[in-house]
Amino acid sequence: MIKEMYKSLGLSEEVIEYGEKIEASLKDRFEEAARVAEINQLRVIKAMQDNKVAVECFNTATGYGYDDVGRDTLEKVYASYFRTEDALVRPQITCGTHALALTLSAILRPGDELLSPVGKPYDTLEEVIGIRQSPGSLAEYGVSYKQVDLGPDSEFDFDGIKAAISDKTKMVTIQRSKGYQTRKTLSVDRIEELIKFIKNIKPDIICMVDNCYGEFVETKEPSEVGADLVVGSLIKNPGGGLAPIGGYVAGRKDLIELVAYRLTSPGLGKEVGASLGVMQSFYQGFFLAPIITSNALKGAIFAASLYEKLGFKVIPDSTESRHDIIQAVEFGKPEAVIAFCKGIQSAAPVDSHVTPEPWAMPGYDSDVIMAAGAFVQGSSIELSADGPIKPPYAVYFQGGLTWPHAKLGILKSLEALKAEGIVEIPR
Ligand SMILES: *Cc1c(COP(=O)(O)O)cnc(C)c1O
Repeated sequence: MIKEMYKSLGLSEEVIEYGEKIEASLKDRFEEAARVAEINQLRVIKAMQDNKVAVECFNTATGYGYDDVGRDTLEKVYASYFRTEDALVRPQITCGTHALALTLSAILRPGDELLSPVGKPYDTLEEVIGIRQSPGSLAEYGVSYKQVDLGPDSEFDFDGIKAAISDKTKMVTIQRSKGYQTRKTLSVDRIEELIKFIKNIKPDIICMVDNCYGEFVETKEPSEVGADLVVGSLIKNPGGGLAPIGGYVAGRKDLIELVAYRLTSPGLGKEVGASLGVMQSFYQGFFLAPIITSNALKGAIFAASLYEKLGFKVIPDSTESRHDIIQAVEFGKPEAVIAFCKGIQSAAPVDSHVTPEPWAMPGYDSDVIMAAGAFVQGSSIELSADGPIKPPYAVYFQGGLTWPHAKLGILKSLEALKAEGIVEIPR
């Protein structure tokens, strides 16, 4: 019966059977993901109980939003989960890039230097920092930037990092996830090693971790191993698919105050910013996020295994430990990236009938094709795929609120590649 259902959704017998074989080989990996999700679920429940989340937290606040209990309590819940002194969790933070830009511009002052010890940051941050010139960038405000690249095996260049740190170095930005690169994602243990090394050289450097796509993948967060600030988007992991907008920053109290001063206004800070009725989705999304993240993780593991066996380079590979929900597959040609994304789109519950095309997205330096049939526009905790149309023609696949949907999407991508004559399914 399941086969008939798959066929009715456009899959061939060959692809269905190949998928079943791959899934059967992943039992242990899936069990491990379920265990991580269980621990994190308990951590979230504990954070909610410790902060006495109550039904009145879901009430709507409007206007200035003074004494918005739902908002203030949620920020305590985030601080408890991330084991930080304070947090800022707001619908007024429009996306991950905004949360990161906000944090950098709140803390850095003219003459300060920002260091990335893990290579080039996420594409959209290039304009924020001024690596690519842009009005309003940090560079325009006199904040300089240094970068130390990772080695060929994504190892830290400790000598280079030491040499790059000077009196001017105020802040370090560490991107946990690989983003649109083919480097390795950093584990929380590796982030710990890096932060210890840096603080040993200059203890007052503020270490910020771009935590996008990393939340709930392990049983600890970078804020537990020395990061002064962790930053992320609510339309990725921590929003659990329900948050319709938002970003968070969690960390040291004095730094969160600076970030709040930049978000609203000096003097007003966290006191204003009405939550406008989104609170229930923020709470419920955070509650579901550990399980949702593990569903997405299962999809990533499945995709890695499936495409690796077909001879493509996959990052991470099918046996590596996981530190974010992104799966990269290198296809080496644009037609394959496009076919893959069309396959993902065709599996969606929403907009399955539309065909994605590459286009010039704001913030990116090449055309990008994006597949997403999401309930929340652009949400990438929902099943989605992005492919910048430039070498090595890799596709970045992530999300999946449910495992069966992630599985269907990946099988549909394979079906599309097969239809284009790009892959042959082994017997
Ligand atoms: C998605 C992402 C961002 C930017 O978030 P947006 O919500 O797309 O603006 C920044 N850094 C990393 C690592 C990301 O994955």
